[in-house]
Amino acid sequence: MSGEAAEGGCLCGGFRFRASGAPLYRAYCHCRDCRKATGAPVSVLVGYAAGQVAFTGGAPEPYDSSPGVRRSFCGGCGTSVSYEDRRLPGEVYLHVGLFDDPEPLVPETHSWASQRLGWLSVGDDLPLHARSSRPR
Ligand SMILES: [Zn+2]
Ligand SMILES: [Zn+2]
Repeated sequence: MSGEAAEGGCLCGGFRFRASGAPLYRAYCHCRDCRKATGAPVSVLVGYAAGQVAFTGGAPEPYDSSPGVRRSFCGGCGTSVSYEDRRLPGEVYLHVGLFDDPEPLVPETHSWASQRLGWLSVGDDLPLHARSSRPR
């Protein structure tokens, strides 16, 4: 994982972002809320300190998805953008599919393996956490 900046944006190009430096965290999330928020069977979230991420050309729309959790989406195309948790202050997690080049952002672990879909098989030997893999 290089420490270079990574850039990305949503499907419609309504906003772009630049994430500087190495991410703090890269994990699959199998939780039901991520599934509902994205429509996808599993998410990969890439965590940064908030100061590492700068949005340009617009900003995603925030909403409270559960107590203490704020997610955002693009108001133009509906792309799921970010996850922030009050118990992880100063951190922002971006969905990996937003990045122009997600290839280097290899996940390191599985969160919420307890909610993984039975038919979803990911062939790796990464650690499985029944709940969040991020200490709260
Ligand atoms: Zn958009
Ligand atoms: Zn999740």
